[in-house]
Amino acid sequence: MKIALYPGTFDPITKGHLDIIERASHLFDKVIVTVAVNSSKTPMFTTEERMELIRSAVKEIKLKNVSVDAFSGLLVNFARKKKASALIRGLRAVSDFEYEFQMALMNRKQAPTITTVFLMPHEKYTYLNSSIIREVSRLGGDVKDLVPTAVQKLLDQKLKTR
Ligand code: ADP
Repeated sequence: MKIALYPGTFDPITKGHLDIIERASHLFDKVIVTVAVNSSKTPMFTTEERMELIRSAVKEIKLKNVSVDAFSGLLVNFARKKKASALIRGLRAVSDFEYEFQMALMNRKQAPTITTVFLMPHEKYTYLNSSIIREVSRLGGDVKDLVPTAVQKLLDQKLKTR
């Protein structure tokens, strides 16, 4: 069984992330979307909220071989524990490359048998990241085509009760 981890902050999940999850789900027997808990960023959504938003997004597009988990600490240790042989990362533009390349090589140094696999989303999502979604919706902009339905709902709720 080929298992892949897709780690990230997912604050919140966007359709760009979801595009990568769907592509990975066709390549691997099982994909575990893994929410980073100890990220240096202060998230807008709690770990539980981020996990629940991913679960409902995955359910909405009916992907059966995708599960959601959370991790803190060294990613490759978590990958070993989950028996994953691959780490999935998304590449949007050249600007992602340098950081992703460094992380991939460091992870390979730590765990030579775990391979980082880069996937590119549909080009309509290449300009997307979670922070621009948070920013634009905070300012009252429309992001509904860019995020799963559950994200849109929770964003609306959070911004209303500010
Ligand atoms: P991190 O803080 O680990 O970068 P993110 O949630 O921002 O977490 O991203 C997780 C992964 O998803 C990264 O590999 C990132 O490049 C990728 N990603 C983010 N947004 C998109 C998108 N719009 N299209 C494709 N990949 C994306």
